[in-house]
Amino acid sequence: METVILLAEDEKKLRDMIALHLEQEGYKVVPAADGAEALHYWREIKPDLLVLDLMLPGLSGWEVLKKIRQKHDTPVIILTARADEIDKLLGLELGADDYMTKPFSPRELSARIKAVLRRSRPQEQSTLVSYHDLRLDPERMEAFIGDTLMQLTASEFKILVLLAGNPGQVFSRLYILERIFGDMYEGYERTVDTHISNIRHKMEAAAASQVSIKTVYGIGYKLTSGE
Ligand code: CA
Repeated sequence: METVILLAEDEKKLRDMIALHLEQEGYKVVPAADGAEALHYWREIKPDLLVLDLMLPGLSGWEVLKKIRQKHDTPVIILTARADEIDKLLGLELGADDYMTKPFSPRELSARIKAVLRRSRPQEQSTLVSYHDLRLDPERMEAFIGDTLMQLTASEFKILVLLAGNPGQVFSRLYILERIFGDMYEGYERTVDTHISNIRHKMEAAAASQVSIKTVYGIGYKLTSGE
């Protein structure tokens, strides 16, 4: 369940650069080179978020945004080369969630995207599991440390949800196996060690976190915050 971003930008170099960066962050990016194409893809794929350049050939970004807002509240981040305040205000009045003035860094854009996506998902609040800077969204199968998205497998994700939903509690390998794979699973408890090891590596690679998975010798694992 990946997050799909529709990227409407007519400057190919910029579009490719942004797309590459966002893909590296784990998003699925659908590129559009003009306004009509953006609108077409918006209808077809129902993206989680739209990055929309204002100055697009044919149908402008303004018109695209207006049409979208008549029907839906898809989060939209506006890109504009014109830094004047009127553009910004108009963008916000039309219901853009945020805007970026060119030039900007792809890092900056992805930080905005994360913030907008977070704000736009209040209805899923109840299902979120979070512990310190670790945040798990079971509906989207997304795990974040701070703002960094971790690429977890389904099994890794389930294990982390179990641990993060009960921080400090020790879970045996057998318990984890049964919870994750069901009673019928006749695998080895060692499998859990492999998953845990992978999760640890991914957490470390994502960011320096206060949160870590501790091995409780002879028993199993627990999630703790850095003592
Ligand atoms: Ca443009």
